[in-house]
Amino acid sequence: MTQRPIIIQKYGGSSVATLEKLEAVAQRVVQKQSEGFGVVVVVSAMGNATDELLRRARQITPEPPARELDMLLSTGERTTMALLSIAIQKHGAMSISFTGSQSGIVTNDSHAHARIISVRPFRIQDELERGKIVIVAGFQGTSYKNEITTLGRGGSDMTAIALAGALSAQACEIYSDVDGVYSADPKVVLSAQKLEQLSSAEMLEMAQHGAKVLHDEAISYAHRHQIALYAKKSHDPASTGTFIRPDGWPDYALQQAELRPLAIVTAKKTMYVSLDVPSPASWLGTLQKTDGIKLMDMSLSHSHAEALLDIWNCTDEDALRAALGNGASGILRADVKNVTAVGHDLGRFPAIPAKYQALLAEKNITPLAMFIQPNAVTFVVRDVDVAAASDALHACIKN
Ligand code: ADP
Ligand code: ASP
Ligand code: MG
Repeated sequence: MTQRPIIIQKYGGSSVATLEKLEAVAQRVVQKQSEGFGVVVVVSAMGNATDELLRRARQITPEPPARELDMLLSTGERTTMALLSIAIQKHGAMSISFTGSQSGIVTNDSHAHARIISVRPFRIQDELERGKIVIVAGFQGTSYKNEITTLGRGGSDMTAIALAGALSAQACEIYSDVDGVYSADPKVVLSAQKLEQLSSAEMLEMAQHGAKVLHDEAISYAHRHQIALYAKKSHDPASTGTFIRPDGWPDYALQQAELRPLAIVTAKKTMYVSLDVPSPASWLGTLQKTDGIKLMDMSLSHSHAEALLDIWNCTDEDALRAALGNGASGILRADVKNVTAVGHDLGRFPAIPAKYQALLAEKNITPLAMFIQPNAVTFVVRDVDVAAASDALHACIKN
């Protein structure tokens, strides 16, 4: 059989939340195949199935063993893959479902947030050649020790992009409940605008500060491997989505008189740390050894550590507090979030963060902290202030 161009489509939890939605996805992928594509479909767990599985494990013990949690959580995506394959076959097309390990996704041995180290999709290639639609359970792989691993929350995007790279796919389409990437989470900022396209460098900066519409490591992979990526809305044939070009930062300076943010973003679950530490070096060592956290911002002086951590992948917040607060005095707060203005060079000119701070002050919002990076200005605010702070900074995109 002559090689057909391959398309990877990834459907997230809300896109496959019910059997009706799964059947609609089945029709759509059958249609795509009939247009002449080899179709690989990556699926997430249905609706909130992953949270539900986590909740059940924690009913037994607050600290479930990481290996068993991975065994448990991987079943969410496996349920979807088999149900979707059943639905596709009902429509008269040929399909086969594969787990991450059957798809050749090999990871390191870090349970709960494993990293992909190689992708050997031989079985997928064989089945595509036989004319089948291949369904892959996202978010999981197998370690070189032959253990089931998961890729961290939101990790099905990673599966899709890694397969797009390994199969030299023409494009990778990520379907969710929004019509692409917006200038802020449209559920938080009602005036958020859809971005027709942006570069993977811009998207990576947004994702690293928490815009979970696309997974940060997946974007980084797409950037490195030059994969064309589309974020689209499922169950909406009119969705044009957002094209994420695999390239670097555009030169805004040539396009606009004043630097403006590209987007305002907030991470899903964060911890703000401000501690007096006897030895910053050993505190840094503790942070380095702590599982399931991502460092968004940090500053260290001779006796003080301040950091903003993304803790969405942390399975045991109490243990995290105990480890980071050990021998230190200060605050560890999880009832706060970042509100980050992302844009090229925003942090290079003091006038810009100063202007944003003044806008927050006008709304009576006093941030707990501020972090400045070359392409991102972050304010740490209380959960209750996130919407108002996001709105205030979002106004700078247009005005
Ligand atoms: P899925 O479960 O399909 O992977 P996610 O929940 O991970 O979908 O991502 C889609 C969600 O991302 C949207 O419902 C939206 O609330 C949120 N989101 C956050 N920031 C943005 C943004 N800048 N643009 C679009 N959506 C965003
Ligand atoms: N089901 C997993 C999660 O909820 C992975 C994913 O949806 O991408 O995080
Ligand atoms: Mg997601």
